[in-house]
Amino acid sequence: MVKVHEIFGINVFNDEVMRNRLPKEIYQALHRTIDNGKRLDPQVASVVANSMKDWAIERGATHYTHWFQPLNSVTAEKHDAFITPVAGGKVISEFSGKELVRGEADASSLPSGGLRSTFEARGYTAWDPTSYAFIKEHTLCIPTAYCSYSGEALDKKTPLLRSMEAINRQAVRVLKLFGRTDATRVVPSVGPEQEYFLVDKNLYDRRSDLIFAGRTLFGVPAPKGQELGDHFFGTIKPRVQAFMTELNEELWKLGVLVKTEHNETAPAQHEMAPIYSTVNIACDHNQLTMEIMKKVAGKHGLVCLLNEKPFAGVNGSGKHNNWSLTTNTGYNLLEPGDSPHESAQFLLFLMSVIKAVDENQDMLRASVASAGNDLRLGGYEAPPAIISIFLGDELTEILDALEKGAAYKGREKADMAIGVHMLPKFQKDTTDRNRTSPFAFTGNKFEFRSLGSSASISTANVVLNTIVAESLRQFADELEAAEDFRGALHHLIVRNIREHRKIIFNGNNYSPEWMEEARRRGLLKLDSTVDALPCYTAEKNIRLFGTHKVLSENELRSRRDIGLDSYAKLRGIEAKTMLMMARREILPAVIRYMGDMAEAGERIRRFDSGLPNFGTEELVKKLCEGCELLNGSIKQLARALEEQPQNAGPLEQARYMHDQVEKSMRDLRKSADFLEMITDRKAWPFPTYDELLFNI
Ligand code: ADP
Ligand code: MG
Repeated sequence: MVKVHEIFGINVFNDEVMRNRLPKEIYQALHRTIDNGKRLDPQVASVVANSMKDWAIERGATHYTHWFQPLNSVTAEKHDAFITPVAGGKVISEFSGKELVRGEADASSLPSGGLRSTFEARGYTAWDPTSYAFIKEHTLCIPTAYCSYSGEALDKKTPLLRSMEAINRQAVRVLKLFGRTDATRVVPSVGPEQEYFLVDKNLYDRRSDLIFAGRTLFGVPAPKGQELGDHFFGTIKPRVQAFMTELNEELWKLGVLVKTEHNETAPAQHEMAPIYSTVNIACDHNQLTMEIMKKVAGKHGLVCLLNEKPFAGVNGSGKHNNWSLTTNTGYNLLEPGDSPHESAQFLLFLMSVIKAVDENQDMLRASVASAGNDLRLGGYEAPPAIISIFLGDELTEILDALEKGAAYKGREKADMAIGVHMLPKFQKDTTDRNRTSPFAFTGNKFEFRSLGSSASISTANVVLNTIVAESLRQFADELEAAEDFRGALHHLIVRNIREHRKIIFNGNNYSPEWMEEARRRGLLKLDSTVDALPCYTAEKNIRLFGTHKVLSENELRSRRDIGLDSYAKLRGIEAKTMLMMARREILPAVIRYMGDMAEAGERIRRFDSGLPNFGTEELVKKLCEGCELLNGSIKQLARALEEQPQNAGPLEQARYMHDQVEKSMRDLRKSADFLEMITDRKAWPFPTYDELLFNI
C-alpha cells in the first residue's frame, strides 16, 4: 500500500524543492515572479535552470521539454536530451537559463488558424513559472506558453494567463471600494470534475469507429442501459478499481490533488475530481489527467474514452467546471460572508457573474462548442444549448425582495437592504439539487456544466474570467464615481437584478416547456458548433476581448476558424469511417449470413416441402430489404462527401458537414442498426453495445 503523503508531488519541482535547493535570494526573486508577475532576471533563470536539471537528473530524467497546449486541445512536447559534447568524445549535462525560459519550435503542423505565416513557421515557447515543472517518464516537462514570432497566442495557456490578469485587475478595484486593501491579488479557482468511459482494449481494437473517431458510429443500445440507476455511485469493479488506484498514484506523484472517484450514470462510465486550485494549474493538471488516464488504462488492458458521446442511448461525458474567486488573503469572494458588509460585497460579485452570463450567452456557448459536445448538449442528459443560471430558491427570493424593496420571507423577516442585512448561509442541499442547469450556483461557487469531457478547460475559463472582468470593470467605474457608495451600490444591484433576471431559471432545463419559456425570454439557443462559433468575431466580442487584452481580433478569428475546421474534419473522419465499416464489414457479413439462411431454408424445404421452414424465408426477405436500405444509405453518404464544396472557407465547410453530411450519417446508422437487430450475433462483424458496456 502506498502512503499518499510519501508519494505526493515527488515528480514535481515544487515550492518545497525550490526552497531547499535554491539560494535564498534566487528563491525569493523567483517568488516575486510567481506571485506578482515580476519579470524574471536572466541570472536568476540560469541558477533555477541548473538546479532544476540536477534535480531532474537525480530523479532519472535524461531529457527536457517545453510542454505546451496548442490550439487543438492536446498537449505538445519535443524532447531534447541534457547533453553537450565536450573534448574527448564525451558529453556533459547542461541546461541553461535561456533554454529554460525560451524555446523555439518548428511547429508548422500545429494549427494556427492563419496566425503564423508559412514563411515564419516557428513558434516560440516561454516558461510559465506559475506552474511547476514536473517529470513525466524520463523527461523534465516545463510548462510553457506558445506564441508566434509577432507575439500572437498560438496556444490555450497564454489567453488563460491574460484573462487571469484581467479579472485580477478589476476584482482588486472592486475590493478597494469595500475597503479591502489587504487583498492585492484575486485569482479564479477551479475544480474540474472529469467524466470518462472505460472499454476493454480487445473489443476496442475490433471497432474502427472507436479507433478512428473515439466513439461508436453504429450500434443498437443494449437491452439494459442506465434506467435502473444502479451504476451511479455503485460498487467499483475490481478491474476498474485497479485502474483508478494506479491513476491516483500516478497523478499524486505529479502533484495533482485527485480526491474523488466514483461510477457515473451510464454503464462503464466513471468520474474523477481533484481538489480545486488556481485555474492555470487546474488546466495544466486536467490536461495531464487526460493523458495519464489514457496511459494507465492501456496498462490494464482498457481504453479510456474521453469523447463526449461514445454511445447512443446512454449518457455522454462532460466536465463540470467549478469556479470561484479567491483573494491572496484566502477569502472566497463568492462566499456569502459573516457580516452585512460582506454580504453586500458578495451580492456585487454575484451580480457581476449574473450580468456577465446574461450578456455573453453567445461566448459561453461557443466556449464549449465541439463536434463531440454537439451530440451531448440538449440531449436530455446534459445541459441544453441554452445558457441560463440556477441560483436556488432561497437566493432567488432574496434577489426578488431586493428588487421589489419588499420583505424577504426567509430567516431575515425584514426588508432587505444592502449593507444592512446579512445573508443566510446557503446549504449545499438548497443549492445543488438541480442537476439540469448549465450554470449553477452551488453555495460558494458556480458550476459550469456544459464543458465537453475531451475539451481543454482553458477555453471556457478564458471566457468566464473575461466576461466577469468586464462586469466588474463597469461596476468599479460606476461606484468609484459615486459620492454615496452605499446608496450607489444598492441602486446598482437592484438595477442589475431587474436587467438580468431573465437569465435565472431554477426549473428543469430538460423540459420542453423551458425551450418555449427561454424563447419567450429571448435567450439564445445555439444548437450546434456551426451556429455558435461565428460569434467569436461578433463586434461586441472583439471589443470585449480587446478591452481586456485577452484576445485580439486576429486571435479570436483564428480560434473560430480552427474550431470550425476541426469540426468539419472530425465529421469527415467519422463519415469515412462509417463508409468503410458499412461497405467492408457490415454489408459483406450480412450478405454472407443471408446466404447461409437462404441455404438453410432451402435445405429444410428439400427435406420436407411441407415444413414451415422456421421463418427463414421471411428473415431472408427482411435481410434483403435491410441490405437494400444500407446500400442506398452508403451511396447517399458517399455522394454527400463527394459533393463537398471545393476551396470553401471554414464556416462554409463546417456548415455543409452539419447540414448535408450529418443527415446521411444518421440514415446510414439507422439502416445498419436495423440489420444488427436481425443478424446472428456471431455473424456481426464487430462487438456490440452489450459487450462493450457490460464486459468489464
Ligand atoms: P459535486 O459537484 O460532485 O457534488 P463538489 O461540489 O463538492 O462535488 O465539488 C466538486 C468540485 O468542486 C471539486 O473539484 C471541488 O474541489 C471543487 N470546489 C469546491 N469548492 C470550490 C470553490 N470554492 N471553488 C472552486 N471549486 C471548488
Ligand atoms: Mg459538481
